[in-house]
Amino acid sequence: MIDDNLQSVRARIAAACQAASRDPSGVRLLAVSKTFGADAVIEARAAGQRAFGENYVQEGVQKVTELADPTLEWHLIGPLQSNKTRIVAEHFDWVHAVDRLKIAQRLSEQRPLERGPLQVCLQVNMDAGANKAGVPPDEALALAQAVARLPHLALRGLMSIPEPTTDPSLELQIHQRTRALFDTLGQSLKAQGLAPSWDTLSMGMTADLESAILAGSTLVRVGTAIFGRRPRAVGVSASAASTA
Ligand SMILES: *Cc1c(COP(=O)(O)O)cnc(C)c1O
Repeated sequence: MIDDNLQSVRARIAAACQAASRDPSGVRLLAVSKTFGADAVIEARAAGQRAFGENYVQEGVQKVTELADPTLEWHLIGPLQSNKTRIVAEHFDWVHAVDRLKIAQRLSEQRPLERGPLQVCLQVNMDAGANKAGVPPDEALALAQAVARLPHLALRGLMSIPEPTTDPSLELQIHQRTRALFDTLGQSLKAQGLAPSWDTLSMGMTADLESAILAGSTLVRVGTAIFGRRPRAVGVSASAASTA
C-alpha cells in the first residue's frame, strides 16, 4: 500500500511540476513518517524512498538508530527545544524548524565533526499564525546572516507551515510570499558571500503540495498521502489531544 501511495504522490508531484513548467528533478519528496513505526519506513525504502521526516526528537532518534541505514536521510521537521539539540545534532542530517539563533548555535557546537555540517532551514511564520513557531519575515534576514556564519551548519533555505485554509487563492498567495522572501534572502546572502548552498524551499504537505510547487517549493513534506492517516493528533499536546 505504501508503494502504491508513493507512486501516486510522485505522480502528483510530476503533474504539478508540469502544470508549473518546472523540471520534476527540482522538487524533492520528504516522506513524513512521524507516528509510524520503522516497519513503515522499511516499506517506503523498498519502494525507493530515501529521505524521511520526523517531528518528535525521541521518536525520530529511535527510528534512526533502529534502522541504522547510512543510505537514509533523516530530517527533523518539528519544533526543537534547546535541551534536545545535542541528540539531534548527533542523529539527524537536516533540521527544518530553526527559528532562533540560540538553537542554531547549539546545533553547530554539538554537531559531531565527522558527520560534516548539519543542513538547516529557517522556519518562517509567513501568515502570522498566533501559536506558531517560526521567525517573523522581517527578522528572517538577520537570523539567516547569523546562522550562515556558524561553522558546522549549512544554511539551505526556508521552511513554512501555513495555517490550513480552504481558500485556494489565499493558500497560493501565502506560498508565493514565502517564495518571494526565499528569493530576496538568497540574493542578500549571496551578495555578502554567505550561505553558498541556499537552495531549499521546504513547503507543501499532503493537502497543498500542488500550490506549493506552483509557487516554487523545492521540497515537499508528505505524510498522510504516503503512510495513511495518523493514529493520533499531531502538533498538539497530549492532554489537548485526549480532550479533543
Ligand atoms: C506532519 C507534518 C507534515 C506532513 O503532513 P501531511 O498533511 O500528513 O502530509 C509536514 N510538515 C510538518 C512540519 C508536519 O508536522
